[in-house]
Amino acid sequence: MSNFTRALHAGDIAFHLHSYTNARAHEEAGPLAIERGEGVFVYDTDGRRYIEAMAGLWSVALGFDEPRLVEAAIEQMRKLPFYHTFTHKTHQPAIELAEKLISLAPVPMSKVHFTNSGSEANDTVVKMVRYYNNARDLPRKKKIISRIGAYHGVTVAAASLTGLPNNHRAFDLPLPNILHTLCPHYYRFAEAGETETAFIDRLAREFEALIEREGPDTVAAFIGEPVMAAGGVIVPPTGYWSRIQEICRRYDILLVADEVVCGFGRTGSMFGCTTFGIEPDIMVLSKQLSSSYQPLAAVLINDKVYQQVASQSAAIGTFGHGFTASGHPVATAVALENIRLIEERGLVENAKRMGKRLLSGLSRYADHSLVGEIRGIGFIAAVELVADKSTKARFDPAGRVGAYFNACCQSHGMIVRNIGDSIAFCPPLIAKEGHVDQILDCFSKALEDTDRWTRS
Ligand code: PMP
Repeated sequence: MSNFTRALHAGDIAFHLHSYTNARAHEEAGPLAIERGEGVFVYDTDGRRYIEAMAGLWSVALGFDEPRLVEAAIEQMRKLPFYHTFTHKTHQPAIELAEKLISLAPVPMSKVHFTNSGSEANDTVVKMVRYYNNARDLPRKKKIISRIGAYHGVTVAAASLTGLPNNHRAFDLPLPNILHTLCPHYYRFAEAGETETAFIDRLAREFEALIEREGPDTVAAFIGEPVMAAGGVIVPPTGYWSRIQEICRRYDILLVADEVVCGFGRTGSMFGCTTFGIEPDIMVLSKQLSSSYQPLAAVLINDKVYQQVASQSAAIGTFGHGFTASGHPVATAVALENIRLIEERGLVENAKRMGKRLLSGLSRYADHSLVGEIRGIGFIAAVELVADKSTKARFDPAGRVGAYFNACCQSHGMIVRNIGDSIAFCPPLIAKEGHVDQILDCFSKALEDTDRWTRS
């Protein structure tokens, strides 16, 4: 390690409290400091190259050095580095991006509200749902149903929607009135001998039973990621979403699609809603919206929701919500260029093709004794490692083998994410055949290393 890197790491350990990191372990292990990017690769401060098989945080669609995004940011910085969207004010990039998102939406949507992060967007959804039903004079209809294993962010309300124990434990969450129904992971949660159809039936029955138990007049919304990402890349069985949707409609429950990871091509269509035939009332977008070159998220609402929100704001005198940087001109200008590039370069189609190559490459390891399930759709995938293939028994403690596998990948020059003992892949949408093959090669080496380690 160079002296420069050593000093940098010491500074990091001294001053930085990291996200999603065991702070005590970090005092010992220190960081991996990334210095620069080039296409699907990033380089650390010692010049080591890594293929970024997670697109950063499921987000850098265009890779790590796209000059047109840089130019779009510089141009907007020069012209108007900041203006806001409060009290009837606006600017061209926010106007154009709102129009573009409405034109792309898979179902008719009416308005866009911008935030800086996916968490803020989902918090906004929680408030919007309350506002909507207060406007309809349904003050009891406020509960929101999410799912076990869901990820919707970390602010107080968004973390409550998230259905992962580590986002609740010691934070005194979830908030009241946020409930979680079953996770649509067939491999993990199907009962012995249960077919996929029977599994979906059971989940639909459970969802409906929860609504009935709580009282349909108290349930306002259901939120779900078309494909659960941070919960382990969970692709629901075919037919799951149509059942959920039908129940939401029957009980006058708003359907919220959290497209923060799925949006802009990840599942092989522009939106996860298209891939799964979901017709949401509210859609949440972020991440690949700007390739994370700028912090940005958007909440799209349909006209049914907008009309109530608008009337309520008129009754109160204002829609009392919005962030200083909502619709920030630099972020919205970058997002517009980002979407233009995704369209120009046919990256949704590319994601579909590269995803097929990745999944078929991974499926070569289906018989390996450590491999429990290989799952994915479009250009997002995961391999779940198990202690016993025949019983699907997990490793004990959970996550230790996954973390080892992750470290092996890093030593072979690849960044992945272990979600417990599931290894997730979500490469930039610009990846080419050679990059996918490199990912598969690193995976194979890490699998060999891990196999040796678990046997020793
Ligand atoms: N929703 C989903 C589906 C996500 O994956 C994430 C982030 N991984 C969020 C919301 C939260 O976004 P942010 O980290 O920008 O707050």
